[in-house]
Amino acid sequence: MTDSMPAIFFGHGNPMNALLRNGYTEGWAAIGARIPKPKAVLAVSAHWYIPGTAVTNNARPRTIHDFGGFPRELYQIEYPAPGSLELALRVQELLRPTPVALDESWGLDHGTWSVLCHVFPEADVPIVQLSIDETQPPEFHYRLGKLLTPLRDEGVLIAGSGNLVHNLHTYAWGRHRVEPFDWAVRFENQAREFLRSGEDAPLVNYEELGRDAQLSIPTPDHYLPLLYVMATRRDGDEVSFPVEGVDGGSVSMLTVQIGATNENP
Ligand code: ZN
Repeated sequence: MTDSMPAIFFGHGNPMNALLRNGYTEGWAAIGARIPKPKAVLAVSAHWYIPGTAVTNNARPRTIHDFGGFPRELYQIEYPAPGSLELALRVQELLRPTPVALDESWGLDHGTWSVLCHVFPEADVPIVQLSIDETQPPEFHYRLGKLLTPLRDEGVLIAGSGNLVHNLHTYAWGRHRVEPFDWAVRFENQAREFLRSGEDAPLVNYEELGRDAQLSIPTPDHYLPLLYVMATRRDGDEVSFPVEGVDGGSVSMLTVQIGATNENP
């Protein structure tokens, strides 16, 4: 029997992490070494935020360099993981009656590959991306996450990629280290408490959490992948935070893992 897979929300932050070796990338690599090797990954990236729910169904998804103004080496990265039509169709089935388009125009965006190139450096695990429907409220995304939970028993790693706190207006792009903003720290701590205690409702209704949440989540795109991941939590699942840190003062690099790494179902 396949081991139950964890579900993991990665804080991806700066695309340059793809090229770097630092505490975040070492933490991602350690996760890849620790968890059972998945049959496939279903990636929910902040950077595929479109009007509609879709899955990639390319046999060979292209590596998308969806950013501007970075060094040439970053545009030269290719992450040649295969796709999986089988998983794309399974997602369609699980999410029914919500229509899920089969998409061949997208591929792997940097929310996915800048992290997974460290988690699975061999690029040998098939990946399907699931878009985030920008027209839908947070409850919708949480509900889809619940419907995807059976994938954890089918050897599929559900990997959200965004950032719990993501405010680029206040982000320090310089090389110097800056202290995290107090509102960012407060919101991250509050979110950790809700995650530890399994109180999902306030995190789904984050728009009612006040000013710290507003500053931390000025737009929903980087936050919503967390809802897909946390919705897959089942009784007895541990919640852990294997990678931590705040980058540039206002981007939380927190990784949230649902489910123990070596549990047996
Ligand atoms: Zn991003």
